[in-house]
Amino acid sequence: MEKLYYQDTYLKTAEVVVTAVRHTGKATEVQTDRTIFYPESGGQPGDRGFLGSYSVLDTRKADDGDSVLILEKDCPVSVGDSLVLSLDWGHRYRFMAMHAAQHMLSGLLFTNHQIGTVAVHQGEEYLTIETDKAEISQETVDALVRAANQAISEAHPIIYHEMSHKDAEALGLRRSIKVEGDVRIVEIVGVDRIACGGVHVANTSEIRLIYSLGHEQIRGHVRLYFRCGEQAIESAIQNEKVIQGLNRRLSCKADELEGQVEALQNALTEARNARTQAYKALALAEIKDAVDSYGFCSIVCEEGTDLLCYANAVPTFQDLAMVVLCPDKGRTKWLIALKGRYESIDFNGLRKTLLSIINAKGGGRSPVFQGVADCNDKQALQGFIEEFRNTVLK
Ligand SMILES: [Zn+2]
Repeated sequence: MEKLYYQDTYLKTAEVVVTAVRHTGKATEVQTDRTIFYPESGGQPGDRGFLGSYSVLDTRKADDGDSVLILEKDCPVSVGDSLVLSLDWGHRYRFMAMHAAQHMLSGLLFTNHQIGTVAVHQGEEYLTIETDKAEISQETVDALVRAANQAISEAHPIIYHEMSHKDAEALGLRRSIKVEGDVRIVEIVGVDRIACGGVHVANTSEIRLIYSLGHEQIRGHVRLYFRCGEQAIESAIQNEKVIQGLNRRLSCKADELEGQVEALQNALTEARNARTQAYKALALAEIKDAVDSYGFCSIVCEEGTDLLCYANAVPTFQDLAMVVLCPDKGRTKWLIALKGRYESIDFNGLRKTLLSIINAKGGGRSPVFQGVADCNDKQALQGFIEEFRNTVLK
């Protein structure tokens, strides 16, 4: 198979002749006499596009290195057919630039920071570089991003050299050579040299922009995340919008945002604690107000009330038979307390007769039981309260 993508990585169409067709039941796999379609390899995704009028969904590498076009199942393609191959150029170009960006970043990491690359992945959203280091400082990542964008603005040509394995070994490349026989060296002039069979843009200026998305530790290695080209520019625009919006809302500069958010979080925690204390005091006062001389009380509270506030008040009372109901998104939360002289009442014995009135579920441990009822009918809820009163006071 003639690999036209090595002669000219910018070829978008080519006339080809079908040399092999295989129907797998899931797809139609097609090989051609020559190709501009690069197969998935080395973290770079396979090309997409069209063979004649048929969609090429992916391109995979055969055992001999040739490209296998993956078409939808049962495509009526035959050996000998002469058809036009056309690339989804947007997809290819984006990944060609991203792949060249990866070479440039790995080269700069190695030369400037003595950090090796152990694995790479080019995704739809971002590029990842897994390094051989367990820790990398933010200052190093920042220096890398500055150097990468400097190399983009300096417009370094990206060129190829074919050479013997021995000559290539003598270059002392940053990564060992994996292939046998002659070697294809990709050189970003003045930045990086490495053996690679992939497709790349012709100049670093085509990468346009490198934008760091941060880094994290995975399997004892630091993995770096980047965007490049259009996606990097879009990230910068969108992120700046978010920052400016936050600056306006919080009336501060970008470098003060983190401190401001932390102060707000602390204030929120304090306010929540104060609210809980207030609700507890309120619940206690409410029970004291509602409880009768038998120690019985029933309370229907507002939606959103935390029933835990009522549960917390229970130890204050010597004898208490209390039911609290609280509407909750069309259902009803319930809480029952049986304390002191009422503790001898077997709650589990009440479950069938009492809870079934409002279709309630739940349980607990003496003296407090709670749960949710699949009911919000006022009459049924009033019936539930009366039945509870009659049962405990009889
Ligand atoms: Zn490459």
